[in-house]
Amino acid sequence: MSTLDSAEVAVVGAGVVGAAIARDLAAHGVDTAWLEAGEDVGAGTTKANTAIWHTGFDAKPGTLEAQLVARGYERLIDLAPALEVPARADGAVLVAWDAEQADALEGILAQAETNGYHDCRRLDAAEVYAHEPRLGAGAHGGVLVPGEGLLCPFTLPLALGRQALAGGVRLHLRAGVEHAPREQGPDGRARHRLHTSRGAVTARYVVNAAGLASAAVNRLLGHEGFTITPRRGQLLVFDGLARHLVRHVILPVPTARTKGMLVAPTVHGKLLVGPTAEDLDDTTATATTAEGIAALTRWARAVVPALAEEEPIAAYAGLRAATEHRDYQLFAAADEGYVCVGGIRSTGLSSCLGIAEHVLGQLAACGLEHDAPRELPPVRLLGPVGASGQPGAPPYLGDDRPRPCQDPAAVASDPSYGRVVCHCERVSAGELHAALADPLLPARDGDGLRRRTRAGQGRCQRFHCGARVDALLAEGRP
Ligand SMILES: Cc1cc2nc3c(=O)[nH]c(=O)nc-3n(C[C@H](O)[C@H](O)[C@H](O)COP(=O)(O)OP(=O)(O)OC[C@H]3O[C@@H](n4cnc5c(N)ncnc54)[C@H](O)[C@@H]3O)c2cc1C
Repeated sequence: MSTLDSAEVAVVGAGVVGAAIARDLAAHGVDTAWLEAGEDVGAGTTKANTAIWHTGFDAKPGTLEAQLVARGYERLIDLAPALEVPARADGAVLVAWDAEQADALEGILAQAETNGYHDCRRLDAAEVYAHEPRLGAGAHGGVLVPGEGLLCPFTLPLALGRQALAGGVRLHLRAGVEHAPREQGPDGRARHRLHTSRGAVTARYVVNAAGLASAAVNRLLGHEGFTITPRRGQLLVFDGLARHLVRHVILPVPTARTKGMLVAPTVHGKLLVGPTAEDLDDTTATATTAEGIAALTRWARAVVPALAEEEPIAAYAGLRAATEHRDYQLFAAADEGYVCVGGIRSTGLSSCLGIAEHVLGQLAACGLEHDAPRELPPVRLLGPVGASGQPGAPPYLGDDRPRPCQDPAAVASDPSYGRVVCHCERVSAGELHAALADPLLPARDGDGLRRRTRAGQGRCQRFHCGARVDALLAEGRP
């Protein structure tokens, strides 16, 4: 088999976890090959979740997950603005809906303290309604979690990935790892040989960040210890017309198995309800079901009765990489130069930067020598003023800035920013072009364009813009 690449470190998987690891390896000057089975960065579980920026207040104390969610949260405070990732800490209200749940609130507060999160505050029922006036009747009290936030699950992996690539990491798409034997390199030292559909990649060190396939890749590397049971979470999306109905993330009292279903705003100006928690055995079962949508609709109407008057515009499902263990499956086989990052189930968006830092420590313990961290080139997105972005830079996606078509300076700089293609989300031809022409991570299909621009994600769900967007894709430029 021909050799596709040869590197010091190979990272397997280009979800948000692999992206954060690749980015940190670039920051430390490590020669890195990054392998992804699919067509794009961030197109697996990373794109289909609840998009909450967790503080880790409710994590199981003492776990690696608790530690890395808290650290990931902290690192993202600085990195989100630097990478122009829409993220904001609007806070959460955790609501007890009966007396038994109200009894659990003191334990939740104590757990937050144990986890090192000291900002939670007990709310009585009146205070719950003062924070969330549109809540359904029957709340017994709650807990305010001021730091709990929202982030953009599309921009985060792409921005981390862009920075990794700008820092010298080599990404190989459509390069799923199929076999992973060890061999002796030309210098006489042992190394990994990763066979992919596009050729072999040799590397002294391997990091397995393959998400739902992390247990399978772990076995390819000769290790056991965990299995993945995909836990499906279905979600319902309400249009921006319903956005005003809630001010915070509205959390239920969690159970040992799941964080439960929430009602939450999104950084794109919509409202989410979900996710469900269904254990399956198919790692591709991302379809929604009639039962799931019925359960979500019931929950939406119970928590915020006014949602009965609002129309959901979309439903989707993601699969958590759940295992038989209560913690992440993150371990190193030092003598083999192998780090496994498996079972990152419900918190990987929030913890990815904590995980990346931890993995770097593990690789160093395996013998990897690396430079002190350096500043990576800023990877700017197209801001509200067209001139602030680089050529071929996709737009900022948060609802806290005007879209380029609403910005006279952007339109003056390039009239294609004034030609709106997706009217629901106000996406212009100029932005679609920028996403297609991105020199680092160009969009390759309609879903890639959606995640880079929001095109097709609005109320009409591509009814009006779908044909035009597809034509632009076929042309390669608007
Ligand atoms: C319903 C739901 C709600 C969630 N809500 C939140 C939330 O609110 N906040 C939060 O922080 N987290 C949340 N999560 C968790 C979060 O989405 C995940 O932890 C995170 O996306 C996992 O990222 P990953 O990179 O490990 O996996 P993935 O995104 O799945 O990426 C793994 C990648 O590896 C690739 N791959 C697989 N096999 C191979 C191979 N052999 N060779 C090469 N590449 C391979 C895949 O193609 C994929 O692109 C939620 C998850 C779900 C499902």
